[in-house]
Amino acid sequence: MNIILFGPPGAGKGTQGELVAERLDLVRLSTGDLLREARTEGTELGQKAQRYMDAGELVPDSVILGIVREVMEAQSHRAGFIFDGFPRTETQAAGLADMLDEVGTALDAVVVLDVADETLVRRLAGRLSCAKCGAVYNRHFEPPREEGKCDVCGSALVQRPDDREETVRRRLEVYREQTAPVLDWYEGAGVAIHHIPGDRPIDAVQADLTALLSA
Ligand code: AMP
Repeated sequence: MNIILFGPPGAGKGTQGELVAERLDLVRLSTGDLLREARTEGTELGQKAQRYMDAGELVPDSVILGIVREVMEAQSHRAGFIFDGFPRTETQAAGLADMLDEVGTALDAVVVLDVADETLVRRLAGRLSCAKCGAVYNRHFEPPREEGKCDVCGSALVQRPDDREETVRRRLEVYREQTAPVLDWYEGAGVAIHHIPGDRPIDAVQADLTALLSA
């Protein structure tokens, strides 16, 4: 099974993708996570991606398709993939279709998490994570017990550079202009598209998503 988890930044794709990948034994492939790892490691790829990411712009398609191909080749023995934050352009969607075709498989569905813009801004601009253990908090919805400190390990909480409010607004614009049209591309390609309201508690969204993908 190969699924795309689609939706604007802050829709909950990462959280939902991790849970559902575990449940259905899929490999979650998040291009955002891969780029952040490369950046932390200071690789050439990471350095190249950084200025796009910090500005809220898309990293070039050729770079993205290269890293996706690498991961897919390394994981080809597994059951299937759940793509998170990829594809973000029509070129990436076409590239993914080719890569799946090469290994004799195809996309089963696109699942869109729909969330209102104001909620996205509050979720992203309020997001904080632990620099050490990765635990995620939100200033508005899920604050840590002690300001700026991780409940789990006591380390300092940090904000992703691209979660600053002006960058968040740019990321939402980029989503509308460049990424949302990818849905039309899939519609034209005859791929099933399902919408799930993402403006609800994590468990409720997860229940709908699991039910949909198990069906
Ligand atoms: P994300 O964590 O998915 O919101 O991604 C964070 C940032 O990484 C984005 O704002 C882009 O700069 C970059 N990025 C992640 N995935 C892609 C992609 N598929 N295409 C282009 N840029 C991406």
